[in-house]
Amino acid sequence: ERSAVVRTFDGQGRTADGHRVSLVANVGDPAQARAAAEAGAEGVGLFRTEFCFLDRDAEPSLEEQVRAYRSVLTEFPGRKVVVRTLDAGADKPLPFVTDVDEANPALGVRGLRTARRAPDVLENQLAAIAAAAAAEEADVWVMAPMVATVAEAEDFVEACARHGLDTAGVMVEVPSAALLAGPILARAAFASIGTNDLTQYAMAADRLLGSLAELSDPWQPAVLRLIEATCTGGAQQSRPVGVCGEAAADPALAVVLTGLGVSSLSMTPRALADVAAVLAATDLATCRRLARAAVDAESALEARTRVRDGLPVLAELG
Ligand code: PEP
Ligand code: MG
Repeated sequence: ERSAVVRTFDGQGRTADGHRVSLVANVGDPAQARAAAEAGAEGVGLFRTEFCFLDRDAEPSLEEQVRAYRSVLTEFPGRKVVVRTLDAGADKPLPFVTDVDEANPALGVRGLRTARRAPDVLENQLAAIAAAAAAEEADVWVMAPMVATVAEAEDFVEACARHGLDTAGVMVEVPSAALLAGPILARAAFASIGTNDLTQYAMAADRLLGSLAELSDPWQPAVLRLIEATCTGGAQQSRPVGVCGEAAADPALAVVLTGLGVSSLSMTPRALADVAAVLAATDLATCRRLARAAVDAESALEARTRVRDGLPVLAELG
């Protein structure tokens, strides 16, 4: 649904002094991919592949998967598309890979962990992604959800390499992965921070529980410190770190993330124009200063207030 304040974004993301931040889109199916391309997204920072698997009793065939992935890749010729492997479990249960009887599904066999129980599902998906990538012109990157250890990152990167998928990365959405970003990024080509789950696990607050909204807030300084730790690991290994959680769509937080060293922000397409406008009005030194102020705050409110007060441009967004 479009609102009156939507402006189209058809350029490249940059700070006022020209520091590049790639502004890309989160998409969950081919229709959303088309909408993202029309909104001017530079590429796709998170292609959620669950749409191909949901509401089914069995795994989709290789051919079906190739067709589904191609229909998204075809919207971004020559552009980066980060394909996330199946993120089943917790809020996305799937009968053929997840166990519906777990007592704590958010802490259970979900995301990449399902590959232990159903290794063929991951193997088939990687084969389908590789076939789709070979048939389309998009620059295909692959990443796994819910990586918690260095060994998981290493296994995933190796599995991708066996399918000729050389740009393999990990999502950072478990605090352990943020703290071990250095060794993880010695193996993986990139990291993409999923702030929705990273916040849930850092704050021990169910992301679907409205009554815990105050805790489920990416402005919580503890979450910002985990993001900072991830960026430090990325800088140590010279690996790019992106953000693909909802936090990337908040223009004030986009400034903080840029200041922390995040080089790509992936969001719902309708947020692109506002994020681009605020970055274009803010130089990198200001991003860094405001990032420091936010990370050093003692509460989410203090972090938010410090950054908003430092960004008069926000008032112009309407
Ligand atoms: C996240 O956790 O921030 C994320 C982008 O993944 P999802 O919302 O699909 O769990
Ligand atoms: Mg997630």
